[in-house]
Amino acid sequence: MQLVFSSNNINKIKEIQFLLPSTIQVLSLEEIGCFDEIPETADTIEGNAILKANYITEKYGFCCFADDSGLEVDALNGEPGVYSARYAGEPKSDDNNMDKLLLNLSDKTNKKANFKTVICLNINGKQHLFTGIINGKIIDKKVGENGFGYDPIFMADGYDKTFAELTIEEKSKISHRGLAVKQLVDFLQ
Ligand code: IMP
Repeated sequence: MQLVFSSNNINKIKEIQFLLPSTIQVLSLEEIGCFDEIPETADTIEGNAILKANYITEKYGFCCFADDSGLEVDALNGEPGVYSARYAGEPKSDDNNMDKLLLNLSDKTNKKANFKTVICLNINGKQHLFTGIINGKIIDKKVGENGFGYDPIFMADGYDKTFAELTIEEKSKISHRGLAVKQLVDFLQ
């Protein structure tokens, strides 16, 4: 069967195709001729994953899945959450986002945070949500060179290294995205 991944990220598409059974062909947006700016206007991570999957199913009729992720910080009432990518405004900058977060957290004692990924799958007329969460804390300064986004300031529970100090293999075994993708793959297998 063919399944559209509502994403323009070629690396994510390749990674997921690799994990899925060969009977499932993952199609990119380009492959179905979709060059639209898909709206991500929901105020929750779940809501954005649903918007992105529904857009493709409703407009193009394909079975489809979409993902959305973010960092939720307890002492900031779940911020930056759905706004993680552009927390410090435009142009999008990982460094500025981390600086803003560290500043906003500087007078707080509770440093607990979690990364969350939601995958929305629309298949055979039904919708399924898969959620991956990794709990941890925000540390006071940036450490490590790997990864992206908030990785240099996030340390998962039980670890003494930030996400940016883990290899990609180490991170994907425990990460929010890895956990959500595993649920999707198990469901489709
Ligand atoms: P997306 O929905 O996967 O594009 O993630 C939205 C934003 O959340 C990213 O631009 C990052 O700022 C943040 N984020 C999501 N996943 C991660 C991660 O694994 N490490 C660090 N930051 C992340």
